Amino acid sequence: MKVALGMPGRPLPPPAPAGVGNLHAAEPFPVAARRELADTQLRTNLAHATSTIRAKRAAVVAEVPDWEQLRDAASAIKTAAMADLPALLVQLDEQVTAHGGTVHWARDAAEANRIVTDLVRATGSREVVKVKSMATQEIGLNEALEAAGIEATETDLAELIVQLAGDTPSHILVPAIHRSRAQIREIFLTHMAGVDPDLTDEPRVLAMAARSYLRERFLRAEVAVSGANFAIAETGTLGVVESEGNGRMCLTLPRTLITVMGIEKVLPRTQDLEVFLQLLPRSSTGERMNPYTSLWTGVTPGDGPQDVHLVLLDNGRTAALADEVGRAALHCIRCSACLNVCPVYERVGGHAYGSVYPGPIGAILTPLLTGVAAHGDPNASLPFASTLCGACYDVCPVKIDIPSILVDLRRRQVDADRGGVPGGLEVAMRVLGVVMGSARLFGLAERVAGLGRLVARGGSIRRLPWPGSLWTESRDLPAPPAQTFRSWWARRRGAGS
Ligand code: SF4
Repeated sequence: MKVALGMPGRPLPPPAPAGVGNLHAAEPFPVAARRELADTQLRTNLAHATSTIRAKRAAVVAEVPDWEQLRDAASAIKTAAMADLPALLVQLDEQVTAHGGTVHWARDAAEANRIVTDLVRATGSREVVKVKSMATQEIGLNEALEAAGIEATETDLAELIVQLAGDTPSHILVPAIHRSRAQIREIFLTHMAGVDPDLTDEPRVLAMAARSYLRERFLRAEVAVSGANFAIAETGTLGVVESEGNGRMCLTLPRTLITVMGIEKVLPRTQDLEVFLQLLPRSSTGERMNPYTSLWTGVTPGDGPQDVHLVLLDNGRTAALADEVGRAALHCIRCSACLNVCPVYERVGGHAYGSVYPGPIGAILTPLLTGVAAHGDPNASLPFASTLCGACYDVCPVKIDIPSILVDLRRRQVDADRGGVPGGLEVAMRVLGVVMGSARLFGLAERVAGLGRLVARGGSIRRLPWPGSLWTESRDLPAPPAQTFRSWWARRRGAGS
């Protein structure tokens, strides 16, 4: 098989098309963020959850003396894997096939959904159990299965909560991070068939209710659908790491197992897992070791699923791989550490990003996967959803330089805009250049700016008329000081002479 970059044959697949799946935001980030910011319950939940996970992560990372070397090793393994991706994918395909599995290649979300739907239909089953998977959320698999009359049940507790509520996930690792215990109790009472009406909002009671609801489905399901955290090219082994044991049930009980995996998840060797299985649990859940790590290689006769499929998903990954700067975003192992330290994410939550990938990684990965059609494309606003504080880079276990990629994506957009009529920002910068280049004009501007004190409230100016509104629409403007440095200096010099 001939594979170009990430997928077989030419022409290379385009970025992830709109219309299917959950990558294309419906509205620009600032519009969605303003709405989410008004939800105080959401902000309280987010602040509590992210600060708890942050503290746990920091404690367990500090225990590892060679943490930085592990990060370097992970970055080097991922860089090499991306450089050799075509050969690794062919090797993976051969190994999975040699061990009794079947490999399918999907160029985009629609193709992947069609492949999975046809595979489920062929079994005669009308329901599937699912392991938490970002790839299947990305392609909108549950919606596609539902349209085909197939019921999909999410078995990860947080994913189940989101599914029962008809909601969308807001965090990579903790999809129901925006829900409180009281809200979860209400969701269970309203949507979970057969639940005890005296259900309390005690975490243990809620978990037991979900457990008995899911147990029935595990036992009767003929088909399971999973994602994969890793795939080992040299052996054809796939791996899922999870905390609840629901994944282990899905991966071992049903007769048919279908795994949908982004092509960037492939690693060359089994020994590479040594690095990633140390980095992932400490970075994601703040645990020293992952509670359940399931590895499987094709079919084992008489043990576990006897019909095993792997769907290799492109959906814009080849386009991202062709991007010399942005391709590092494909190194992501979806630990979510960058979300938990991001001051923007902590305040607006995941829904504001409009994509299945929120937070700092979403701000680069989403536009790289979808491409940015034009300045008005809502995904074009995502690289600006950052303060560039650099906290995401500091915690990333695979050392993705997210701030630099954000700046590069912003630069491209500004450059693209330069082709036509200069935008407001460019005009403002040119005017600023002229004013700051002249002592007389700068002094005049200082005096005009001083008038801003008349409209300031509580130390800041909330709203200015155009063109000042371009700034105050999304940021506060500190009130000008009563005295500028130059007037202070002039007075001081006058007093001293
Ligand atoms: S970018 Fe890094 S920190 Fe963020 S989810 Fe991916 S691996 Fe984790």
